[in-house]
Amino acid sequence: MTVATKSQSDVADLRLADAGSRRIEWAGREMPVLAAIRERIAREQPFKGLRIGACLHVTTETANLAITLRDAGASVALCASNPLSTQDDAAAALVKNEGIATFARKGEDRDTYYRHIEAVLETKPEITMDDGADVVTLLHTTRRELLPNVRGGTEETTTGVIRLRAMAAEGVLAYPIVAVNEARTKHMFDNQYGTGQSAIDGLLRATNILIAGKTAVVAGYGWVGRGVASRFRGMGANVIIVEVDPLRGLEAAMDGYLVMPIAEAAKRGDIFITTTGSINVIRAEHFPTLKDGAIVANAGHFNDEIEIPALEKQSKGKRTVRTFVEEYSHESGKKIFLLAEGRLLNHVAAEANPAAVMDMSFANQVLSIEYLLKRGKRLKPDVYAVPEDQDALIARVKLDAMGMKIDRMTDAQKTYASSWKAGT
Ligand code: SAH
Repeated sequence: MTVATKSQSDVADLRLADAGSRRIEWAGREMPVLAAIRERIAREQPFKGLRIGACLHVTTETANLAITLRDAGASVALCASNPLSTQDDAAAALVKNEGIATFARKGEDRDTYYRHIEAVLETKPEITMDDGADVVTLLHTTRRELLPNVRGGTEETTTGVIRLRAMAAEGVLAYPIVAVNEARTKHMFDNQYGTGQSAIDGLLRATNILIAGKTAVVAGYGWVGRGVASRFRGMGANVIIVEVDPLRGLEAAMDGYLVMPIAEAAKRGDIFITTTGSINVIRAEHFPTLKDGAIVANAGHFNDEIEIPALEKQSKGKRTVRTFVEEYSHESGKKIFLLAEGRLLNHVAAEANPAAVMDMSFANQVLSIEYLLKRGKRLKPDVYAVPEDQDALIARVKLDAMGMKIDRMTDAQKTYASSWKAGT
């Protein structure tokens, strides 16, 4: 058995470890659901000897998850799911103070990024945890010899789940994977309230602009888009929604936003945030029509929602005017500002989603691994929803931790709800 040791780890600066531990503890205060699970599984040791290979954003929240898995008996190897999202102090704390093998440096280049994923694969994981399906992709392409070790996996994010479903439909997926993102206690809170807030946080930390009175264009009205739009509105922006799905467009319209094609919105917006999970949403033909000083950023999956190569081509030059703010001198004479290289604004320019929502996402991660192990070989290679009672359990514990209670149905209400005879 190969177990990555902390000496094999690769992090930026181990001297940051104690500061990292303090911040991990701070995040942990907002993660009561995960703490309750940790308390139970530290006793029960359901993951004893299990090799887990995780490719997630290396943050203080993920650190709490990794510690929980370790306390449940697992040997965990962790790498970053994005080259820019690593919090170096959290990574250092995991290695030095927790003895968890971690391979992640903020700002690592593409080669290092993949070398770090390979380092996790070298530990021959039995369970994979992905945020964007990078581990799954490598296992199914260049590292197929490792597939027989794998018992199951989890996927954290929307785009990853879409890819896995495509793999399952083509019959190429080799092991069962639980789509954590599909838990309601994940996407309704992490994607909506988490990214809704943290994307604005990234915008403000990068630019310090006033939002009130500006026109903000949000591309995509999925869970992330809804969250970002409502936070913009709350801060006094005029919000325009861009969509391709008629139902979502309609929902945005009835939520009180203006809905229009990107070609129209491009001329009106002061700030643009893409949240579609698609590509080239703001593209070559739109840059010439943007207002002078327009700010463009992305809070969706990858850095290709904005067609950056086209922007580069149409520009006479660029310079960094503030950290994470790139000023492009467009050939039209206008200035266009691109934030965080078009990568996840909330991870790069802020601190990603707050712990209070990651609490539920990561509780889902842990319970999903337990579910995979319990169901064992009965789960054929496919993409699975989280078990039904998991959402209710997590939501109950969370509400309880927030000091709020809900009612239970009376017997009469239960009978009423299950009867077809009670009419008008
Ligand atoms: N992996 C892709 C994008 C996915 S980012 C990429 O890097 O390009 C979106 C995911 O980040 C969400 O599903 C969310 O659960 C996760 N996330 C957000 N805040 C986080 C945090 N503080 N710690 C760990 N993961 C976080």
